[in-house]
Amino acid sequence: MSAFPSSVRIREVGPRDGFQNEPETIATYDKVRLIDQLGRTGLRRIEVTSFVRPDVIPQLHDAAAVLEAIELPDDVSVSVLVPNERGLERALEHRDRIDEVNVFLSASETHNRKNVNRSIAESIAGVARVLERARSEGLRCEGVISTAFGCPYEGHVPPERVAEIARALVDAGAHEVGFGDTTGMANPRQVGELFPRWRAALGDAVELTAHFHNTRGQGLANVVAALGAGVDSFESSFGELGGCPVPPGATGNVATEDLVSMLEEMGIATGIDLPALIVASGMARDVLGRPLGSHTLVAGPVDWRR
Ligand code: ZN
Repeated sequence: MSAFPSSVRIREVGPRDGFQNEPETIATYDKVRLIDQLGRTGLRRIEVTSFVRPDVIPQLHDAAAVLEAIELPDDVSVSVLVPNERGLERALEHRDRIDEVNVFLSASETHNRKNVNRSIAESIAGVARVLERARSEGLRCEGVISTAFGCPYEGHVPPERVAEIARALVDAGAHEVGFGDTTGMANPRQVGELFPRWRAALGDAVELTAHFHNTRGQGLANVVAALGAGVDSFESSFGELGGCPVPPGATGNVATEDLVSMLEEMGIATGIDLPALIVASGMARDVLGRPLGSHTLVAGPVDWRR
């Protein structure tokens, strides 16, 4: 166990991971308002949408409109998720609006097949073509590995296989590899053991990012385990929005405001204005018209003056 880092980077993924999982489509106007508020919180990385096929994920049919309408500070790195080369081509029509692209595949054959209808090998080949083209356009690239800690269909996912996929992503040009606990199966002991192995396999030049879902309430415990293992980059969703298209019922990411509250109380700097973030999550709650999973949205920030 190394000491906790003094600061961390947080990528907000709610506008993609969250909005895509809502049963109803959020109005483009509301998406833009919410993303613009996120831009006022000090967040420096925001994944704003995904260029998936509108007939597959109709919730994100307005990716281009959202990307063109948002007004974010210049120091916010704007990323979009792209599932394939066609998605990248659509994203590149808005090249001046984006800084990063994120690609993804699963470490489980069954989950990958159900999610993108490809084998892992086919996905790696496709992702490599996307990364090559994205890099040639000067875009920063993240590769996210879903079900990196366990699969709802296959159960155990061999960590060596995850490391091999991560290596392939780096060899194909990814600057950053995200390890996704897509269906909330990770536990803190496993997280603390696996990140050092993956770090050893990938070397120090690659940014390793933890992406935990709070499906079983273990998201923040896994964050603490990752911090102890030297991880200083995280992805989360405001309001605890988020999930995964397969299987149904896979619920939200760790809430960004819960993550920020915990880290700041631990003395780990996030650069994020928690009250401004809570405003964003409250706006999301009002737009969706239902209570959200976030704890800090309900309780408010820790206030030592009381
Ligand atoms: Zn996710």
